[in-house]
Amino acid sequence: MSGESNIVECCTHGNRYPAYVCQHLNTHNPVGFWEPFDSDPSLVYTNDELNAWCDACDEVLIRVGEWNEESEAFAKIKLVCDSCYFEIKQLNLGYRAD
Ligand SMILES: [Zn+2]
Ligand SMILES: [Zn+2]
Repeated sequence: MSGESNIVECCTHGNRYPAYVCQHLNTHNPVGFWEPFDSDPSLVYTNDELNAWCDACDEVLIRVGEWNEESEAFAKIKLVCDSCYFEIKQLNLGYRAD
């Protein structure tokens, strides 16, 4: 096992580790940012730990109580790279990477 399969090729950042966000999260427009734990941009997450969703998805999640068919269909989780993930987080939370 080389671990190479766990690499995502980002058109902005090159070869990075994968992260997952809902379809509404983006690097231009703040829509809220929720994640299961407080990720740290100074750390490297190599095992798909990074995932996040927006305010609208969180409302659905609270209403249905868990990630199920309905909440996952609403979120339509997409794959991004870890650099994109932290750009999105910074945009939404005003997080300072330095
Ligand atoms: Zn969303
Ligand atoms: Zn990227």
